[in-house]
Formats: sequence, structure tokens, C-alpha cells
Amino acid sequence: MGTTKKKFRTESPANPPLTPAQQTTLNLIRLPANERTTYNSTLRAQIQLELEKETVNLVDQIDEPLWVSKRQLQAVTSCEVLYEKQEGESFEWKIPMTRGQIFHKCVELSVHLSPTRTAPELVDEALTSIMNRGDGLASFLVELTDIERAEIRSEVASLLQTYFDTFPPLQNSWSPTTELPRKVLLHRGKIVLQGRFDLTVGRPDELTAGRVLIELKTGRAVPHHLDDLRFYALLETLVVGVPPALLASFYVDAGTVQVEVVDEDLLRSAIQRTSSAVKRLLQLRLKERDPERRASGSCRWCPAATDCQPGQAWLEEANGSGVW
Ligand code: SF4
Repeated sequence: MGTTKKKFRTESPANPPLTPAQQTTLNLIRLPANERTTYNSTLRAQIQLELEKETVNLVDQIDEPLWVSKRQLQAVTSCEVLYEKQEGESFEWKIPMTRGQIFHKCVELSVHLSPTRTAPELVDEALTSIMNRGDGLASFLVELTDIERAEIRSEVASLLQTYFDTFPPLQNSWSPTTELPRKVLLHRGKIVLQGRFDLTVGRPDELTAGRVLIELKTGRAVPHHLDDLRFYALLETLVVGVPPALLASFYVDAGTVQVEVVDEDLLRSAIQRTSSAVKRLLQLRLKERDPERRASGSCRWCPAATDCQPGQAWLEEANGSGVW
């Protein structure tokens, strides 16, 4: 049942044989040339104008630039009280957070290191590189016990092996990049939009879209992953002048990918979400309005939940009481 004779074939290294999962991923992240959109050369300037229009009356009142990443956009869009609480707290590393950071470093090294390494070798190289950086994550990792570091090493090596088994090996001809930074200055730098793309393949051909932005997710799928990528599509358009062709979230645990084709409707919805969120961020900074409470899944872990009436009502309903 379902067995096939083993075929011996001479593959060139540029076209390695793929597992069925790798082939499925490749089929989903590659948009045929005849389906790629060609955009107007004025698109970049139009989007910049639209984003600046919304905040033109507020921006002169701030002294320090407002830095906006996908995290701030998501936080202020979900609950403004929670956003303000998070902004006021100092950041602390926790063991589960390190997993994604080390995994991303492994993928970066796997693209740029030669000769190729095994998953456990890459994890060791990544850990050494991060621990030598001298930043907060380095100190956190150095202070862990040997057993805690070994557990992280084992978890990331397993994740990485799943990634290698399910994501197609990156070819040089695909122009892959990792940790590609993008920064956009609005109002001559009073507002800075920024992001860093986990992985990209392909590139535009003059005004025709061709780049695919891929976020590598080591946790579960949540709806705001789509919004994060749409914001990245906006950044890419504002920096390069041509939108990406596709946006992809690759869920490493499951080895599956969710893909969205970029078009003008998608860019329009990203412009609206971004400009309205940036306006709210400015209003909150200028204390022009009180932060709004918006109950959602975030109430489950929100540190303000105990004293929050809408949050408690949402949690009661979500936990069963009052649900029909
Ligand atoms: S409990 Fe929910 S509604 Fe209340 S502040 Fe936290 S996230 Fe906002």
C-alpha cells in the first residue's frame, strides 16, 4: 500500500530532491511569473502621503520620535490599557522566549554558513554567537544552569530538524535574505516605522512584485500574524517602491505554511490599520485621550485583569458561565 520502488537519480545540488512536505511548501510560496502584479511607480509616494495625512496635526507636538513596530501596532489595536501597562514595564527574558530567538539565529546561519551543518551543530553555533553578543539575552543564557541550556538546545534542534524536513532548502538563485531590516521615516523622522523580516525569497523585477516575505513562527497561529505581515508589506513598499508578491507565515512545529497574495486591497487595509493605530499612539503619548479597554484573548494573561471589569466579564464568558 502506497509504496514505490526506490529510484536512483542524479540530482544536481541546485535542485535537491524534496520531501512531500517541502514540495507542498515550495508550491505555496512560489507565485508563477504570469500571476505577479505590476504596480504604478507612484505607489510608494501615494502611500507615504496617506500615512502622513492622518497625523499631520499631531506630529509637531511631540519632542522625541515615535518608533512603531508590529508589536506596538498590535498592542494598541488590541487594548490601549494593556499597551500602556506593557510600555511602562521593563522587559524580562523567560526561557520559552529564547527558543524563537535561537531558532531564528540557526536559520540565519544555515543560509550563510558553508559547508552546511547539522541541526545540533547549528544550535551550538547559534548559542555561542548569541552568548558572545553581550546583550540582555546573552546574560540571561549565560546565567542559566547547564541543564536548562541543554533543554533549550534539544528543543531548538528538534524544531530545526522539522524546519529542514518541511521547508525547501534555500537556493542562491532565490536571493534569500534573513533578518532583513526595513525602516521608514514619516514627517522627516518624527515617526519611524520599522520591522525586520525573518526570511525573504525572490525579488521584484522593476515594478513587478516578486519578493516573498516569510515569518518563521515557533508558536501557535494567532490572527494578528496576518496583520503583522500586512504591515511588513507596507514597509517593503515604502522602502523598495514595489510591494511583495506573497506573505507567508511558516509554522515550524507543524511544518505548514499560510500564504496570502498581496494586492491593492490588502495594502489599503494595512494603510488604514497602521495610520489609525499611529494616530492613537500619538494621542496616548500626548495624553489627548484616556486609554480604551478592549477585552480580548489578551485578558487571559493581562497583568491588569484582576481589577478590570470588562476583562473579568470577558473571561467569565470565555470560561463558560453565561455562554449559551
Ligand atoms: S483585562 Fe483585558 S480589557 Fe482589561 S486591561 Fe487587560 S487586556 Fe484590557
